[in-house]
Amino acid sequence: MTTETCVRFAEVGRLQLGERDVPRPGPGEVRVAPLAVGICGTDARILEGAYGARPGTILGHEIAGLVAELGPGVDGLAEGDHVSIEPHLYCGTCRYCRLGWEHLCPSKRAFGVHLDGGMAGSVVVPARLAYRVPAGVDPVVACMAEPVGCGIHGMDRLQPMSGLPLCIIGSGPAGLMLLALARLTGVGPIVVLEPDAARREAALLGGADHVLDPTDEGWRDAAMAATGGHGFDQLIEAAGSPTGLATAIDLAARHARILVYGVAHPDAVTPVRANDIYARELTILGAALNPYTHARAVELVGHLGLERLAPGRYPLPAVEDAFAAQRERRHLKVVIMPNG
Ligand SMILES: [Zn+2]
Ligand SMILES: [Zn+2]
Repeated sequence: MTTETCVRFAEVGRLQLGERDVPRPGPGEVRVAPLAVGICGTDARILEGAYGARPGTILGHEIAGLVAELGPGVDGLAEGDHVSIEPHLYCGTCRYCRLGWEHLCPSKRAFGVHLDGGMAGSVVVPARLAYRVPAGVDPVVACMAEPVGCGIHGMDRLQPMSGLPLCIIGSGPAGLMLLALARLTGVGPIVVLEPDAARREAALLGGADHVLDPTDEGWRDAAMAATGGHGFDQLIEAAGSPTGLATAIDLAARHARILVYGVAHPDAVTPVRANDIYARELTILGAALNPYTHARAVELVGHLGLERLAPGRYPLPAVEDAFAAQRERRHLKVVIMPNG
């Protein structure tokens, strides 16, 4: 076998299914044969041109697979190990890297965005980015360690307090993973706002105490009633909606903490009242990527009930259909299976 199939981001709006030479791992690198590669909102944004990726890059940054080949000098991994890939490389020398905030590195590069990713017969990464997955975890679940790592970083930022209500705005894949993480912290009641019926159902199965449709009349009264009328002490915007932050501020109790987690369109603007933030002493937090959380994510990913997302599985040659499925929300999560 000298060539293999791969999916490249050709240009805005166009994917390209092609062949390439099987890459060889250099010193300190491993070649991984991806078994499951998640498609997420970032991939959709790359394709529509709203997230800068290098044209010609092989997509796929949520990767679980088997170690297929070790480069010189790699120890701690063996051929056949089931691993999850942490898909970021940081420069190590900029101001942010040197302050310990590598994920904010302006020169960061991501596999599947700037470097060839997992939608191929193989992907080559530094061995330190391949984390062994605990036995018994399905690769389709393990590939979600990447977004779960982002969720763990979000929860680290939010520092939720047990015994106090939490509102999650949006229960797409990101919101559902955050819901699963939130359940482990003892917060409650957890109220989820979601207009899509299938996603509301998934939030209920995922353990939300109340799931409300924000297009229903009376949803706001019902949400506030769940908090005894005080509002929420902790809120997560997980929809990436232009209005989500305004909704969160509207529902916030005094002294509340708000996590802006959903990836809003870069040009989306939402009006907020500065006085609300001042007078109620609100804290508004962002959380981007997954710094130093991948090891925890790999341990947790098999214990979050993510099988319930029942990911739609697509072979590599069906990638166009898989992206369409993601766009049309045919499944709660879409996963490409590059190696059968
Ligand atoms: Zn992703
Ligand atoms: Zn840097």
